[in-house]
Amino acid sequence: MAAPAPKIGFVSLGCPKALVDSERIISQLRAEGYALSADYADADLVVVNTCGFIDAAVEESLDAIGEALHENGRVIVTGCLGVRDRQVRDAHPQVLAVTGPHAYEQVMQAVHRHEPPPHEPFTSLLPAQGIRLTPRHYAYLKISEGCNHRCSFCIIPSMRGDLVSRPVEDVLREAENLAAAGVQELLVIAQDTSAYGVDIKYRGGFWRGRPVKSRLRELAAALGDLGIWVRLHYVYPYPHVDDVIPLMAAGKLLPYLDMPLQHGSARVLKAMRRPAATEKVLERIAAWRRECPDLTLRSTFIVGFPGESEAEFEELLAFLHEAQLDRVGCFRYSAVQGAVANELPGAVPEEVKHEREARFMAVQEQISSARLARYVDRQLRVLVDEVDGDVAIARGPGDAPEIDGVVFVHAADDVSSGDFLDVTVTETEAHDMHAIRRAEPH
Ligand code: SF4
Repeated sequence: MAAPAPKIGFVSLGCPKALVDSERIISQLRAEGYALSADYADADLVVVNTCGFIDAAVEESLDAIGEALHENGRVIVTGCLGVRDRQVRDAHPQVLAVTGPHAYEQVMQAVHRHEPPPHEPFTSLLPAQGIRLTPRHYAYLKISEGCNHRCSFCIIPSMRGDLVSRPVEDVLREAENLAAAGVQELLVIAQDTSAYGVDIKYRGGFWRGRPVKSRLRELAAALGDLGIWVRLHYVYPYPHVDDVIPLMAAGKLLPYLDMPLQHGSARVLKAMRRPAATEKVLERIAAWRRECPDLTLRSTFIVGFPGESEAEFEELLAFLHEAQLDRVGCFRYSAVQGAVANELPGAVPEEVKHEREARFMAVQEQISSARLARYVDRQLRVLVDEVDGDVAIARGPGDAPEIDGVVFVHAADDVSSGDFLDVTVTETEAHDMHAIRRAEPH
């Protein structure tokens, strides 16, 4: 009789990009016949995929490594914090191995070294779409790794390297497999989605017997042909993004753009070294909305960046008033070890950062509430994430999972996650909506 398969525990921290890395490693583990363990005590070793973006994430990652060591004792560390090998080993000298982000092969080598694979890998058990950590009905689709920009507050390029786009046919094949496996919504992610293909000179590939270029518009159009929801994240407002708006207006892509803008003051954006900072964002947004009135715009901003004056902060508030973004996240600037911005003069005191964050959120909350209120009495198609009693917790075209609001559909105890429902919105709040199912025609 074959020996039982070694069991690997897996802890996945960080952003959706790290989640995709976790899915790849887990897919590979399963392909090689390893079993997964849901608890520390039962695992032969534990892989911790860490985040190292801001200091709070570093703390959380170090705590997670400590917990895994305490509960299991045999731990391999991977992910963004793995770049700081010294820091991990200083805090936890007992870890078996430390590797950086998207270092699938090194992680697998470390697993092989400490827990050799079973002799008969059950490769046939691995579904074509790989193993996913998201619920069955939505999945992240990573189209590239790394980034060619050098924003002064960010150390991702030093951790993940320059942009490397995946071949378009690989991306489309993965998307097709996911759709065939029942995924209803694809969330397209990258560090900079709009830069897709730049590094490979928009090289062409073949999909479904026709040529497709590795360029955002062509990729998005092909994904739109799959007949499921497609949502774009981390898109910068370059002029060529204009080309995807007609696909949204035509219902091929969700009318949704997640576009991290970070600030509204030209000087602060310059100090941040932001891409597309001067691309006439407000004019571009107005033109997109003319073409696609239901476009939901999500963004994130940083307050308290070094040197941000009161007047520049007020410029940011004025930008919010004018841009009328639908969904907005606000972060207080926090020093990231190794980031160039740490050297900039004019550190903003913590209490001022808190005060600016509160003022920012007060302004945006009013804007978000007013934007959502226009949906009252309108009909929407929503996708159910889960059911709690007789309330279905769903999302509409303007709601990305985890980061945006939800639609509570009342009197809906006969539905399941992954179902689409046609609803009428009855009430809206700042972020969430309430709805009832649309009456079937008699
Ligand atoms: S665009 Fe800027 S913030 Fe985003 S990953 Fe690249 S360097 Fe970092």
